[in-house]
Amino acid sequence: MRLASKTALITGGGSGIGAATARRFAAEGARVAVVDLDGDAVHSVASEIEAAGGAAVAIVADVSVASAVEAMVATTEEAFGRLDVLFNNAGIMHVDDGDAETTEEAVWDLTMDINLKGVWLGCRYGIPALRRAGGGSIINTASFVALMGAATPQLAYTASKGGVVAMTRELAVIHARENIRVNAICPGPLRTELLMRVLDTEAKRDRRLVHIPMGRFGEAVEIANAALYLASDESSFTTGTEFVVDGGITAAYVTPE
Ligand code: NAD
Repeated sequence: MRLASKTALITGGGSGIGAATARRFAAEGARVAVVDLDGDAVHSVASEIEAAGGAAVAIVADVSVASAVEAMVATTEEAFGRLDVLFNNAGIMHVDDGDAETTEEAVWDLTMDINLKGVWLGCRYGIPALRRAGGGSIINTASFVALMGAATPQLAYTASKGGVVAMTRELAVIHARENIRVNAICPGPLRTELLMRVLDTEAKRDRRLVHIPMGRFGEAVEIANAALYLASDESSFTTGTEFVVDGGITAAYVTPE
């Protein structure tokens, strides 16, 4: 098992990438703290893991609130005695996120609070726990939009993900000699709640698919598999990366017919 004897904390674990990763990590032997704002979702994922013979604890927390993030790390250490892998994955894409003129300040602030400050808070309280465990792996979910611009703007979302990539790089350098690795994953468009809520018509979905060389949306488990590599000791010399998992979008100038 690739994560035997490791404990992982996964935010946004109630849905999409986080839920798929919680299941994948547990199947590889990790004890998993599944964290989300949505209590029903997080309890259902944790119960499913336990029913399959795994070890999981469900934690309800808002990643943008410092006291809640401090408590989620403490609860994980109380439940499993240590923290080895921190997956800062929770994020939102607000339906009213637009361009510089149309994005409301409240939408900008909420997006930054969850997508960027949430990752910082996870690191603020998670790094001491990883240090207590003798080191570990931090994985931050960014996006391919941190690397490319789009004509259909989600300015706050894009800026927040750019921040995640820059912060990841710097944290990787700061903590490299403490045996704490820090990497970002940059997923392409996935068939999860987050994106399908925004691409809510076939026309909108088709417009996005035109840009993906593979001609399909990615699946949450395909990001979970990338996270599994970064969480495991197989990636022991990998830190500070932008791990792009995007069906070829960022490689393309023109997509095939
Ligand atoms: P999702 O909507 O399926 O899941 C996100 C989860 O995060 C939800 O369960 C939600 O309740 C939770 N969440 C939201 N705000 C929270 C908060 N303040 N505190 C705790 N939990 C909170 O979305 P997903 O597609 O699995 O997205 C996961 C991550 O992947 C996000 O950071 C997203 O930006 C990123 N991402 C997604 C795509 C995509 O196409 N779906 C592409 C690139 C990056």
